Amino acid sequence: MIRQPSDVPRGRALAEAAARVIPGGVNSATRYIGEPYAFASASGAYLTDLDGNDYLDYHAAFGAILLGHNVESVNRAIRDAVGGLDLSGLGVTELEVALAERICSIIPSAESMIATVSGSEATAQAIRLARAATGRRKIIKFQGGFHGWHDPVARNVISTPELAYGLDPLSAGILPEALEATLIAEFNDLGSVKALLGEHDGEVAGIILEPIPHNVGALLPTDEFVQGLRELCTATGTVLIFDEVITGFRHALGGYQQLCGVTPDLTTFGKGMANGYPVGGLAGRRDLMEHFNGRGGDVLLAGTFNGNPLGCVAALATLDHLAEHPDFYTRTRDFGDQLRAGLTRVVGDLGLPAHAAGFGGVFNLYFTPERPTGYRELLDNDHQAYVDFHRAMINRGVLMLPLSLKRNHVSGAHTQADIDQTLEAAESALTELA
Ligand code: PLP
Repeated sequence: MIRQPSDVPRGRALAEAAARVIPGGVNSATRYIGEPYAFASASGAYLTDLDGNDYLDYHAAFGAILLGHNVESVNRAIRDAVGGLDLSGLGVTELEVALAERICSIIPSAESMIATVSGSEATAQAIRLARAATGRRKIIKFQGGFHGWHDPVARNVISTPELAYGLDPLSAGILPEALEATLIAEFNDLGSVKALLGEHDGEVAGIILEPIPHNVGALLPTDEFVQGLRELCTATGTVLIFDEVITGFRHALGGYQQLCGVTPDLTTFGKGMANGYPVGGLAGRRDLMEHFNGRGGDVLLAGTFNGNPLGCVAALATLDHLAEHPDFYTRTRDFGDQLRAGLTRVVGDLGLPAHAAGFGGVFNLYFTPERPTGYRELLDNDHQAYVDFHRAMINRGVLMLPLSLKRNHVSGAHTQADIDQTLEAAESALTELA
C-alpha cells in the first residue's frame, strides 16, 4: 500500500475544520506535519484513520502506548471505576495510596511519590523542588534532552531543523532570566558537566537528564557518565533528576535506573505509565519530597486532577500487567534487536550512510556518517532523509514518528509477523530513497 492524498478525504476535511477552530489545527504542535492525519480507532498494534486505513503503530502516541492499544485489563479497570468515585478534592483515596506504594516498591529511588497529570508537570515540580531544597537558582540540562513545555527546560532540544526554524528557545514568551538559569551540558561528556559546576560553583540546584535521551533517538549513556553524574551531584549537593518519562516502565519495571544501577535523587514519570491515560509522577528521596506542602512544606503542590481515580486505576492496571508479564521486556527487546539487525542489513546492502540504533523496544535509524555516541555526531544527521524515511514508512502503512531524531516504539502488542512486515516495508522505503 502506498498512501495517497486521495486515500484520506474525511481526514482532509476534518483537518480543514480543525484549522478553523483550533490554532494550527492540532492540540500539540508536533502533531502537525503538513499532511492530514485523523485517527478514529485503535486496537493492539494498529491505528485506524477516519477513512478506514490501518497503520501498524510504532509512534505509540510519542511513547504513551506501552502495552498496545486498548489492552483489556486496563479497559476493564477503567470501566469498573466509572460510576464509582469520580473526583473529590479533599483528603486522599485508596487508589492514590496504592499507586504511591506500588511506585515506591518498584522504583529504586522512590521513597515517596506525587501523582500529576502529565510529564511536564512532573519535571516542573522536580526542578522547583531542587531549587527549594538547595536554595540555588540554576539547573543543568543536556543538549537534546526534552523535558516538557515549561520555561526552564524549553531550550537546546537540539536538532538542526529546530535551529534552522529558530526554535531555540522552543517558544516565544519566556523570560530570558528563566532560560539563562538553565545551563547546557553535553550528554556522555562528564567534562562539560564538571566545567559548568566549576564555573557556577554553589549555584546549581539540579541536573536533569533523560538517562537514555530518546528525544534524539537513542544515545546510550556510558557507565562512567551516569556513575560520574551521581558522584558529582553527591559531592556538590546537587539534586540528580532522572527524567524517566520515556524510559520508565518501558525498559524495566524499575526504570532505567534499575538497569544502570545508579539511583537518582528524584525521578519523573509519565507517558507509558498508564498506557495512554493522562498520568505523570514525581518520586524520590523522602527528605526532598517532604518539601511539598501537604503538611507544612515550602513547595506548592497543587493540581485539581492530581491522583484522579481514572488515572490511578489505569496506572495500576498497566503496572499489574507488566508485573504479570515479565516477558514484555524480553519480547520487546528481541523485536527491537530484530528491527535493528534488519535495518542494518538493508542500509548495508544499499550502501546508505545510516545506523540503526536504540535500546530494548525503542529503535531508530540515524542518517549520519558515524554512529552517534554524543551530541556532536547528531549535528551531522541528514534530517531530510530521516523524515523522508519515516514518511515513506507511513505511506506503506507503518506509522513511525515523522520528526527528525525521534524514535519508534515496539509495544506489547506487536507480533513477529508485524516485525517481518516492518522490515519488508523498510526495504522498499529505503530502496526508493537510496
Ligand atoms: N520528559 C520527556 C523525556 C518527554 O519525552 C516528555 C514528552 O515528550 C515530557 C517529559 C513531557 O511530558 P508530557 O508531554 O506528558 O507533558
